[in-house]
Amino acid sequence: MKIAILPGDGIGVEIVAEAVKVLKALDLKFEMETALVGGAAYAAHGHPLPESTLELAKQADAVLFGAVGDWKYDKLERALRPEQAILGLRKNLGLFANFRPAICYEQLTHASSLKPELIAGLDILIIRELTGDIYFGQPRGRRTAVDGHFPGADEAFDTMRYSRPEIERIARVAFEAARKRNKRVTSVDKANVLETFQFWKDIVSEVGKDYPDVALDHMYVDNAAMQLVKEPKKFDVVVTGNMFGDILSDEAAMLTGSIGMLPSASLNANNQGLYEPSHGSAPDIAGKGVANPLATILSGAMMLRFSLNQEEAARRIEAAVKKVLAQGLRTPDIWSEGTTQVGTQEMGAAVVKALV
Ligand code: NAD
Repeated sequence: MKIAILPGDGIGVEIVAEAVKVLKALDLKFEMETALVGGAAYAAHGHPLPESTLELAKQADAVLFGAVGDWKYDKLERALRPEQAILGLRKNLGLFANFRPAICYEQLTHASSLKPELIAGLDILIIRELTGDIYFGQPRGRRTAVDGHFPGADEAFDTMRYSRPEIERIARVAFEAARKRNKRVTSVDKANVLETFQFWKDIVSEVGKDYPDVALDHMYVDNAAMQLVKEPKKFDVVVTGNMFGDILSDEAAMLTGSIGMLPSASLNANNQGLYEPSHGSAPDIAGKGVANPLATILSGAMMLRFSLNQEEAARRIEAAVKKVLAQGLRTPDIWSEGTTQVGTQEMGAAVVKALV
C-alpha cells in the first residue's frame, strides 16, 4: 500500500503531520512518500501541480492531502494558482465522487448555530459529482453578446452539461453508500428550470430501480438548502451535481459548527482516492500551532476504509477521536467553557494515545 502525502500550504503542513503520526501509530505496513503541492510547489517548481507530484499521486493507492492556497498567490494567473492543483488531481485521477460526511459529535452540539435538538446525532453524507457540470463544461469564456438582453455588450458564459454515464455512475455510488447506512437517497436537482437536471432526475430514477431496498426521493436545490437548516436529520445520503454539491456540502459542514472536524474523500472508479479535510489552508492561523488536526486525522480514517480496505483501523481512529473529545480536549476552534484547550500537536498526540 502506498500513500502519497501532499501537505500543501498554510495549516496543511501542520495538520497532515499529525495525521501521519496517527497512521504510523497503527503499525500497518504502508509506504508513505511526501511531495509539494499548491503554493509551496509553485514557489519551488513554478507550478502548483508539478509533474513529479502528479506521478506520485497516480502511482499511490491513496493521497492524503492537507490544503492549498494563500492570499499571496491570489494575483497569479488562474492556471498557476494553488487551488488549480486540486482540480488537476481530480481530473487526472478521474476522481468523480466526492464524499462529504457531516457528523455532529455529541460533545460539540453547542458549536452549531442551530438548536441542539436539530443537530444532536446528525449523520448525513453528501455525495457530490466532481468532474462534470458547469465547472468543466465547454464552451466557456468571454465574448461580445449577439443576443440576450444587451446585444453588443461584453458577456461571460459557462456550459452546464452531464452525460448519461456520468450520472449513472455517481447515482450508483450514492445507492451503494446508502445500502451501508440508512437506505435513503435524496437526489438534489433543479429539474423545474434546467434541462441538464431534468435529465439528471430521470437517470437517477432509472438507476434507482436497481436498488429497490433504497428509498429515493428528489428535491429541488433551493428546497434542499432550506431543509438542511430546517430539519437536517431527515437526510441520509444526498447526491447531487458538482455546483449544487459544492454549495450544499459547505452548508451541511456548517451545521456541525466546526469546519476543523470534517473529513472528505474523492474517489475514482478503482477506489483510488484523495482524502482531505473540508476546510482550506487557513492562512490566518498558519504556523501558530492552533489548527484543529481532527478533520485530517478523520480523512486518514476514511482513506483506510475506502482505498486501503482497512475498516478496523479506520474504526480505531474514529473511536480515538471520540475518546479525546470525551476527555474534554479541544483546539481553540471547538473550545468551550469547562474543556481543556490544546494545540495541534497535543491533539495529534492525544489521538495516538487514545488508539486501542
Ligand atoms: P479556510 O477553510 O482556510 O478558513 C476559514 C476559517 O476557518 C478561518 O478562520 C480559519 O482559521 C478557520 N479554519 C479552517 N480550518 C481550520 C482548522 N483545521 N482549525 C481551526 N480553524 C480552522 O477558508 P478561507 O479562509 O476561505 O481560505 C483560505 C485559503 O484556503 C484560500 O487560499 C482558499 O483558496 C484556500 N482553500 C483551499 C481549500 C483546499 O485546499 N481544499 C479549500 C477551501 C479554501
